[in-house]
This record gives sequence, structure tokens and C-alpha cells, in this order.
Amino acid sequence: MNRRPVAPRSETRQPPSFFFLLSAAVAGYVFYRHGETWLRSLLLSLSRSTWARRAVTGFGPAWRVASRFIAGESVDEAIAVARQLNAKGLKAALDYLGESVTQAEEANAARDQILLLLDRIQESGVDAYVSVKLSQLGVKIAENLALENLRAILARAQAHGLRVRIDMEESALVDTTFDIYRRLRHGEGFDNVGVVIQAYLYRSEEDVRRLIEEGAWVRLVKGAYKEPPTVAYARKADTDAAFIRLAEQLLSERARARGVHLAVATHDDAIIRAVQRYADAHRIPKDAYEFQLLYGIRRERQEQLAAEGHCVRIYVPYGTAWYPYFMRRLAERPANLWFFVTNFFRA
Ligand SMILES: Cc1cc2nc3c(=O)[nH]c(=O)nc-3n(C[C@H](O)[C@H](O)[C@H](O)COP(=O)(O)OP(=O)(O)OC[C@H]3O[C@@H](n4cnc5c(N)ncnc54)[C@H](O)[C@@H]3O)c2cc1C
Repeated sequence: MNRRPVAPRSETRQPPSFFFLLSAAVAGYVFYRHGETWLRSLLLSLSRSTWARRAVTGFGPAWRVASRFIAGESVDEAIAVARQLNAKGLKAALDYLGESVTQAEEANAARDQILLLLDRIQESGVDAYVSVKLSQLGVKIAENLALENLRAILARAQAHGLRVRIDMEESALVDTTFDIYRRLRHGEGFDNVGVVIQAYLYRSEEDVRRLIEEGAWVRLVKGAYKEPPTVAYARKADTDAAFIRLAEQLLSERARARGVHLAVATHDDAIIRAVQRYADAHRIPKDAYEFQLLYGIRRERQEQLAAEGHCVRIYVPYGTAWYPYFMRRLAERPANLWFFVTNFFRA
């Protein structure tokens, strides 16, 4: 029987269908437009995942990458970093890492570590204040627990002539954070406590209006958590525009007359320049505000701003609970993820 010649494989293969090409093009375009948003969203979800925390922290080289953003595990290392920053003309905001604790003992242990930190700042004479998270002090267990822990911290800080800033966490905690802040700041007269405003939240315009009337000590940030579009801007451009709007309100003559002091906390050059232009145009003295950046990010820019005569404060985290903080830093910049992945495979 004559066998029919078999065509070479390439000749028998069907050309990709129009629909396949169209789907690939659409997928490519969507990834190009939204890939970074998905990646950010994934990393922020993983920052709350227990299995991912175990996988990352159990992997030795992860610390090598994380330590770019973290001063070390001990209070001594944090003080040493603050001293190095001070020598370069930079101030520090020290943060004992930890968040979302589920046991009162953990919250109380965190409070004790922060009290120790305040003592060490005072003894060493470094120019630093302290940042705390209410979820680290037990707010998710009971509001009263966080209130009592923060009260103890503010009292110790006051005795040492130091300040404490309450970091802002996910949107579900914003009301409670302001309630606790106001009880201690206005109800009990602690004038050494400040708060944070996240520009991505729609509500921040209203919060800023109120904080201006109260003459608050405010750090303005873009916002680092995964929030739904019902509460926060999804587009970077909208958050950036809101940041500049809020910064201008917090630097206004009325705000300054009420005693507001603003910390502009960003690495975004366009925003830093916009704030500088506004301050120059309105002859705002440099001591009415300060710039804040995170430890390990844009180090040259930090020193350059200080050399220009600005007050610059570096947020310095330390401690063993570095996983969620590290994941938020990865989410902010895909290049950091690439650095992490290459170290992962090199190990
Ligand atoms: C001092 C300080 C305190 C903060 N406190 C809080 C808080 O209490 N609550 C809260 O929700 N958020 C806080 N944040 C985080 C903040 O909300 C942003 O997530 C973070 O600052 C990144 O946004 P960006 O303003 O730098 O602008 P982006 O638009 O994210 O970045 C602008 C540029 O900065 C550089 N950059 C930004 N992030 C990184 C990074 N991780 N690694 C390397 N380069 C980077 C890049 O060049 C990037 O192009 C704080 C930030 C700072 C600086």
C-alpha cells in the first residue's frame, strides 16, 4: 500500500487563530497597563499571610535583602543607626517593628520594648523620636488596651522631653486611631503626640480640616495598605494630586497660626519639589515643616535635602517582626522585588 508523504511538522501546524492572537495582545496590553497594580495588590495581600511570612522569614537570604530597609534586630543597632544619621545632619524616627498582635501579652511586651527605646534615646542623646502602631499595642484585641499602653508610652516620652507619632494603618483603624489620639492629646493634655494622614483616603480632606483647627502635629504620606476603591483613590495620579492639595492646606497661614507642624513623608521628587515651590512662594520658614524618608531609600536625596537647609528625618525600623514592613516596601517598587528574587536564586 502506498503511504501518503507526511508533511513536515511545521507545514501541518495551523497558524494561530485570530482569536488567539487577539487574546494574547489583549492580555499583554492589560499586563502592561495593570501588571504593576496586580503585583502590588498581590504583595500587599501576602504581607498579611501567615504561610508567606513563614516562607520568607525562614529563608536566610531574605534578611539580606530586608536589612537594606531595617536597622537591625536590637535597640542598640537602632540607636547606632540614629547616631550615624545625626552625624550626617539627619534626624531619626525610630520604630520598634510589630503590628496586628493577637495576645495582650504581646501588646504589653511591645509597650515595654518601646519604653526601653525611649530610655535609650534619652541616655544616648540621639536626635530621634518614636513611631508606634496601635495594632502593635493591642487595638485589635481591645481599644482600651492600646489606649493604656499608649498612655504609658506618652508619659515616659514626656518625662524625657520626647515625642511620639502614631503611624496610620489600614482604613478600618482610622476612626479608632483618631479617637485614641484625641482622648490622649486633648482629653488628657499630652502635647507630645502626633498623627498621620494618608493622601489616598477620600476622607483625608475632612480629617485635615479638623486637624488644622486642632493645631495638630501631622505626617502626610501617600498610604501603604491595600484599600478598596470605595475608600481610597486607585490611581497614583489622584493620590499624588491629593497629597499636594493636603500639603498646601497643612502649610497654609491658618494652619501655621493654629500651630500645625507638617512632616512631608515621601520619596517622590515631583511632590518634594512642589512643596518646596509652595513654601518658597509663600515665604514659609523651613522650621514650619520637615521632610521624612524611609531608612535605606534614596539615601543621596536624604543628604541633599539636609544640605539645602531642610529639616530631614529618617524613619528607622528595627526588630525581629520585619516581614509585613518589608513586604510593603517591595509592593511600593517592583525593582525591589527583582532584587529580592535575584538574591533568592543566587542563594
Ligand atoms: C517617613 C515615612 C513614614 C511613613 N508612615 C506611614 C504610615 O504611617 N502609614 C502609611 O500608610 N504609610 C506610611 N508611609 C509609606 C507611604 O504611605 C508610602 O507607601 C511610601 O512612602 C511610598 O510612597 P512615596 O511617597 O515614596 O511615593 P511613590 O510614588 O511610591 O514613589 C516615588 C519614588 O520614590 C522611590 N521609592 C518609593 N518607594 C520605594 C521603595 N520602597 N524602595 C525604593 N524606592 C522607592 C522610587 O524612586 C519611586 O519612583 C510612610 C512613608 C514615609 C517616608
